[in-house]
Amino acid sequence: MITRFAPSPTGPLHLGHAYSAITVWGVAGRLGGTALLRIEDTDSSRVRPQHEAAIYEDLAWLGLHWPTPVLRQSEHYIDYDKVLKRLATEGLIYPCSCSRRQVVDAGGVPGADGIIYPGTCRIRSMSDAKPGDALRLDLAKAANRVASALTYRETGGSEQKQINVVPERLIEILGDPVLRRKDTGDPAYHLACVHDDARQAITHVVRGMDLEALTPLHVLLQALLGLPTPIYHHHRLITDGQGKRLAKIDKSKALGRYRAEGLSPVDIRQMIGFDS
Ligand code: GLU
Repeated sequence: MITRFAPSPTGPLHLGHAYSAITVWGVAGRLGGTALLRIEDTDSSRVRPQHEAAIYEDLAWLGLHWPTPVLRQSEHYIDYDKVLKRLATEGLIYPCSCSRRQVVDAGGVPGADGIIYPGTCRIRSMSDAKPGDALRLDLAKAANRVASALTYRETGGSEQKQINVVPERLIEILGDPVLRRKDTGDPAYHLACVHDDARQAITHVVRGMDLEALTPLHVLLQALLGLPTPIYHHHRLITDGQGKRLAKIDKSKALGRYRAEGLSPVDIRQMIGFDS
């Protein structure tokens, strides 16, 4: 059993991350497995070295330990490029130059992963790709290449349920997702995450419910790339006093700040609902 905690060093870790990390290590402990730390530092415009340094410090302070070396996605762009090449050879991705503004103007509406792309560039082929173009997955074509019903297992404690994924429906919920970002050329989260869950032989993905809507896309990518589908556990989210999900923007709940104020890891555990 191998699970992972995969933060992005784009801001300080907050109570929500602490909840997630403690849950990940708790599941690994209960199942006699291993919890890995993975640094998802592919958003090059927002990643900062001080946030990565703070991740190691905060997790160690919480009493969590991980095997080293840690996988840092920024060191593996060559691998994500290989996956993109493969998808290109299979005719499943296309270049897209649309700005966010153009996507909205073309009728894009909010979906589970940002604005649902209306498909403006879908007619373009990879031979016409320009530097700086985003690369998008053609979901309708991708759905045609895999079984019409995919499944994954969701577990919470001792119970497991099977969740059905209907690939053709993903386009309505997500639109064609970006797999390589515009301008920076960074691999998108979906691509790097799915690739590395397989590379690290992750058997259990434990992460927040905020990512649950994206899991069907990850299952589709796994099917397309011939990768195994792990078991998923989407845990509850820690909210602020008003019931709003904590965001990295809300620096007030940063773990480092609580630490500086003299709180102990036990205090943090109690604040987020763990007994000890
Ligand atoms: N890097 C993602 C985040 O910080 C988490 C990815 C995952 O657990 O799949 O939100």
